[in-house]
Amino acid sequence: MFVPNTTQDYGDNPIAVRETDTYVSEYVRGFVEKWDELIDWNQRAKSEGRFFIDVLKARGKKSVLDVATGTGFHSVQLLKAGFDVTSVDGSAEMLAKAFENGCNQGVVLKTIHADWRQLNRGVRGKFDAIICLGNSFTHLFDENDRRRALAEFYAALKHDGILILDQRNYDRILDEGFASKHKYYYCGDKVVAEPVHIDEGLARFEYSFPDGSRHNLNMFPLRKDYTRRLLREAGFQKLHSYGDFQEEGEETDPDFFIHVAEKS
Ligand code: SAM
Repeated sequence: MFVPNTTQDYGDNPIAVRETDTYVSEYVRGFVEKWDELIDWNQRAKSEGRFFIDVLKARGKKSVLDVATGTGFHSVQLLKAGFDVTSVDGSAEMLAKAFENGCNQGVVLKTIHADWRQLNRGVRGKFDAIICLGNSFTHLFDENDRRRALAEFYAALKHDGILILDQRNYDRILDEGFASKHKYYYCGDKVVAEPVHIDEGLARFEYSFPDGSRHNLNMFPLRKDYTRRLLREAGFQKLHSYGDFQEEGEETDPDFFIHVAEKS
């Protein structure tokens, strides 16, 4: 059965598309709905366990700004765990889906439509913690955009606030090369995510669904030490990086890194 790639449009030369603003048009409805339909939230909750809840509770954090709400997974988990959550995304499409998902799970999301680079124009008040999860920071293609976003995150935090930001292990993908690429499976075997183009300025991933349809995301391949440097230069004083929810060193070849950056 042939199923068209729905409405994502990268033009004639998809690997030339390397712009921060592309994210809004990448998350088309067909992609978003399929994603949520296939990725079982219970399964995802099981694989993450209580990691984020424990990191936040251990530091006595209560108010959380989820800056990459997406379809709402982390906002909903944290609301259910008793945190005071505000949910931000630059995609109105995503926020609408997140709100709907929240209602289906018995919680009402406080949503704010804002781009990270102008976060504090849309968001009022200061938060104990900001989460930027699901490999979202990778959507920023320009270093100035990354610094701007981190400065906005920093400013939206209380004096002792923390930022939790995750990223794929792009070092492994870049260093092992395209030929020896791994296949990345998200939450089971239903969605296959694999790189179809890699260079120092672009990681283009393809997401294949069981009905034969495919979608793509163009992302900037953040090296781990580079992200850590940007976090330090943004002003965060303490920085701890985990690999796949384990302490640094325990997991030698993780798929994801989770950086916990503290202001003081
Ligand atoms: N955190 C969710 C998860 O783990 O399921 C969603 C992750 S999704 C990969 C990335 C999200 O970040 C998208 O919803 C996208 O709209 C949002 N995003 C990307 N760049 C952004 C920006 N510059 N400002 C605001 N939101 C942005």
